[in-house]
Amino acid sequence: MIFEAVITLCVAVSDGEERACRVALVPGHEADSLGGCQATLPVGQGMRCQTQGPALEITEVAPGVFVHKGDVAEPDRNNRGDVSNLGFIVGETGIAVIDSGSAAWLGEAMWRAVRTKSDLPVRYVILTHMHPDHVFGATALAATGAEILAHEALPRALADRQSNYLASLVPMIGAEAIAGTAAPTVTGTVAHSQEIDLGGRRLTLKAWPTAHSSNDLTVLDHMTGTLFAGDLVFDQHIPSLDGRLLGWQSVLAEMSSAEVTAIVPGHGGPVLPWPDGLRPVQRYLEILAHDTRAALRAGERLADAVTHIAEDEEPHWHLFPSFNPRNATQAFTELEWE
Ligand SMILES: [Zn+2]
Repeated sequence: MIFEAVITLCVAVSDGEERACRVALVPGHEADSLGGCQATLPVGQGMRCQTQGPALEITEVAPGVFVHKGDVAEPDRNNRGDVSNLGFIVGETGIAVIDSGSAAWLGEAMWRAVRTKSDLPVRYVILTHMHPDHVFGATALAATGAEILAHEALPRALADRQSNYLASLVPMIGAEAIAGTAAPTVTGTVAHSQEIDLGGRRLTLKAWPTAHSSNDLTVLDHMTGTLFAGDLVFDQHIPSLDGRLLGWQSVLAEMSSAEVTAIVPGHGGPVLPWPDGLRPVQRYLEILAHDTRAALRAGERLADAVTHIAEDEEPHWHLFPSFNPRNATQAFTELEWE
C-alpha cells in the first residue's frame, strides 16, 4: 500500500461565506508506510498523509509511452474537466509529461499514474498549446521541480486569457473540482524546435506557425516514432479552430512528410495510424474552407452562412453543434480578406 501527502484546499463559491473544498495531493511524499510519508512532511503547513487516491487510467501505446484518454465531451460536473488526452514518456533518467488537463486534480491523478510505472523524476511538463483543458493541471505535476515547456507564443497568449478560462470553467465543472487550480508558469519556451533527453531517449519539440491555436507544439519520441500532436489532430471530437484555417492546413501538409509511426491526438484515439490519422481533420478543414469560400462568393451574410458551412461533416464528429458554428465564423472572417 502506498501513502501520499495531501492538503485540504478551499475556494469561495460566491460572495458569501460558502466555500467548496477538495483534498489535494502534494506530490513527492509517497512512501510505503504511513510513518515513512509522515517523516517527510514539513511542519506547520497543514499537510497530512493518507492512502493513495485514484490514478488516471492509462494505456501503453508504445514501449514507455503512456496515454490517458479524456472523455470526448465538453467539460461538465460529471467528467470534472477530464476531456483531453494526457501522456507521459519514460526514459532511463527522467520522465516527460505531455499536457496536464483542465484542473489541478487531473495533474495530481496523472502524477499517481506516472508513479505506477516509474519512480524516476518528472523532468518536464510539456504543454501542446494554451487551451484550458491542456494547461491547468501543470502546476500540480511540476510541483517536484519539473520544467514547464511550451511554444514561445504561449505565455503571453495564456496570460491574456487565463482569468477568462478559469472563470468559465467554474460553472462547467464546479468549484470543488477547480480548487487549487492556477495558471502554470512556463519556465522554458520553444521558438522553432528543441531536443530534450530523458536518458537514452530523445524527444523533439517543434513549435508551429498559427494553426489550431497561435501556439501549437508537437512532441516526437524518436525511440518509437510516436508523435504527440496536441490539438493539431482531433479524432471523434470535431476539430475546433482558434487560430488560422489556412495555417492549420499548411501545418498538416508539412507534418504529413515527417517520419512518424503513430499519432496521439489531443482528443479521441488515444493512438491513430500514421498518416491516415491526419485525414479526417484534413477533410474537415478542406470542406470548411470550400463551403466558406462558396458562401463568400454568393455574397451570403455571416449569420446565414454559419448555419450550413461544413454541414456535410456533421455525421462524422461528436460535438458538431457546439463547435462547427464557431469554426465557420472563424473561417468566414479569415477568408473574407483573401
Ligand atoms: Zn485546443
